[in-house]
Amino acid sequence: MKEKKWVDCPSCGSKGAMKYKKGISETYRNLGYEPITVTNLDGYFCSACGEGIFSIKSSKTITSKLTDEKARQDSKRVVASDLIDVDSVAKKLSVTRQRVHQMMDEGKISYVYVGKHRFPVRDNESSYNKLKKRIHHVAHK
Ligand SMILES: [Zn+2]
Repeated sequence: MKEKKWVDCPSCGSKGAMKYKKGISETYRNLGYEPITVTNLDGYFCSACGEGIFSIKSSKTITSKLTDEKARQDSKRVVASDLIDVDSVAKKLSVTRQRVHQMMDEGKISYVYVGKHRFPVRDNESSYNKLKKRIHHVAHK
């Protein structure tokens, strides 16, 4: 993915309305979660309608921060038997432990915090199977 310099607003169509801004905070509200604020973001924003497009880096920050924060909030309500350890997931998906952590960062595997450690949620088998198919599909290209 290449960083795009936005000039015209893709939302309202205003010409030359997109201005680069940084140091932006966004608050996300998800059903069942406390509001999550992500700070220090950058991107292009429309001076006419306010629509914004975050930079690739900021989009990644948002994804990882949201999954991380949800994991912290979930850890208060998830029971141990719902969890599975990273090693087991790595084995199940035939990937490295690092890759499992990466997939947690990318929001592909849901997880919760137990103390300082992240534990994937056991989830239903089928979602791991789907993930497995996708990984191997990509690997064989
Ligand atoms: Zn606009």
